[in-house]
This record gives sequence, structure tokens and C-alpha cells, in this order.
Amino acid sequence: MLALRNFSEDDMESIMNTNVVVVGAGGLGSPALRLLTAIGFGKIRIIDRDIVELSNIQRQTVYNTQDIGEPKVEAASANLQLLNPDIEFDPLCISIQEDNAIDLLKGTDIILDGLDSFKARRVINRASLDLDIPYIFAGAVEYYANLSTFIPGKTGCFACVMGDAKDNPDNTCAQVGVTPTLLSLAAAVEVNEAILLATGQKPTLENRLMTIDSGTLTFDFFDIGKSDECPVCSKTVQSKAAEANDITATQLCSQSFNVSPAKIGKLNLNEIAQNLNQSYSIKITERSVLVNLASGEKITLMSSGSAIIKGVDTAEDAIRLYNLILSKNS
Ligand SMILES: [Zn+2]
Repeated sequence: MLALRNFSEDDMESIMNTNVVVVGAGGLGSPALRLLTAIGFGKIRIIDRDIVELSNIQRQTVYNTQDIGEPKVEAASANLQLLNPDIEFDPLCISIQEDNAIDLLKGTDIILDGLDSFKARRVINRASLDLDIPYIFAGAVEYYANLSTFIPGKTGCFACVMGDAKDNPDNTCAQVGVTPTLLSLAAAVEVNEAILLATGQKPTLENRLMTIDSGTLTFDFFDIGKSDECPVCSKTVQSKAAEANDITATQLCSQSFNVSPAKIGKLNLNEIAQNLNQSYSIKITERSVLVNLASGEKITLMSSGSAIIKGVDTAEDAIRLYNLILSKNS
């Protein structure tokens, strides 16, 4: 980078001092994470609730076949740490929602979109405004991607552009697919915006919407602005910062659930493992405790307080096991 025209040592210093968060470590998040890591953004938080599946690997380039069955954030951090040992990773295996978004995004400088739903993007958008953190939006499906950079107080927001567009269940990546090359193109643009923001330059997608059609290799740009009628950024919308200790369970694939507390914390995994040792078969790693129950269920508890629970049929069962493991320690 330092050999580049218009790129100074100070710019590199700024990048190394920038703390980014990638929300969603899937098709868009993977190539974005590889670039951010290789370039050397100092601290990278990764948020994703899912586990790695074989079908992910052709486009989710941060994983390899040995990661199948592992929480994505843990596998991504481990693989990326090999790429650049100087970076501090903060993996959070959790589903981002209205009541935890502020906690999850707080303390970062730039939010990068690796999501696949409008619903989650609305949550990020609101939190980005509340926290005054720029949000680099990207969405990709089939051969088409949309991108823009939203800066609170300076540009419009995601809701200004997208209105109240809802997720169309017939037009998801699972239904119509998404081409891996498009994901790399879009992710590269996202990271380019992040570099501009980190080095104090004007992002090229500030007040602009970029569309990519990788089928015809067409790149279009549209001027966009702030909507006076935007219900999100034109009024002061206070987010309901959650104090509740509610636990949510999200189904990942059949018989697998992510169970997360509304407020993330820092668990003492060694202590938990010690207390559980009597009654369960357990394995402790640096970032998680794996608990195997005699009845066949497997629980991977992360230090953030989130857990992946395999071998249960319902969200209620997942929450019951989660409480069982944690109440042994209270
Ligand atoms: Zn708005």
C-alpha cells in the first residue's frame, strides 16, 4: 500500500488504528474480511450466528473444509489470524437484533454489511445513527448488488433509500443463488470505502447508490440523498437500548440453534468448565467450551455468552439446555 501514489505512512497508521465490524460472515463478509485483514485494519469484530456448512465454502472464502460444523466467527477469526497475526479479532457468535445492536456495534469506527436480510439491515441502520458510526451498505443476490455508504448527519440512511422494502422470500440467496464473483466485487468496493473513511477521505459512495450487474458486467451510479420523510433519520428516533436479559434462540439448520442473551458479557469459561466437569463430557478451547450430553446434544458455549446447541428440535429445548448449563454455574 505504501508504494501507492496518494497513500502515506500516516494513512497506514490510521488504518491500523481503525476498529471495523463486519456484520455477517457469509458470502459478502468473507471476501471483505480477507481484504480487511490483509490490508491491516487494527481491530476486526465479526458478528454472525451461524455454523459453517459444506455448501457455504464455494463463496464464503474465509472457510475451509476443516471448519465445517464450527461457529463461523470462530473459524473465520482463526483462519484470518494466520493471514495477519497482528490484528485483534473479536468474534461474536450472536444474532444481531433490535435489543442487542447497540451493545454489539458500540466502540467500532465503521460498520460493514455482510448481511442477507432487509430486517437485519434496518436494525444496523438504526444503531449506526444512534451511535454515529458510518454504515457501508451492501446487498447481493443472483447477479445483482447494491451499495452505498451512509454517514450519520451527513448523508441519508438505509431507510431513506429503501423505504419500507421488505424481504422477499422468493428472492433470497437460498432461492435464486448468488454468484461468488459478484460477492468479491461488492466486498472489494465495501473495503475501498472503509479505506477512504479510515484515512479521512470522502467515500466515493457518499450520497450515491452503486449497482453492479455481474451478468453483463455493468456498474451504475445514482445520486441519492436524505429523505425528509424518512421515519428513521428525519426524526429523532430513540432506539430501545435493551436492558432486558431476554434469551433468544434462532434456528440455524435442522436441530441446530444459536442461543444468545440480549446483553453480551464475558464468561469465565474455565470456571464454567470446572463446575460442569462432574456431570458432562466437556472440551475447553481458548474461546469456547464444548459440552457433550449423554443424551446426544452438543453445546458450544462462547465466552460472549452465546451458544450453538445441536441435537434439539425446538427453540424451547435449546433455551432449556442453555439455562441448564449456565445455572450449574450460578
Ligand atoms: Zn433516513
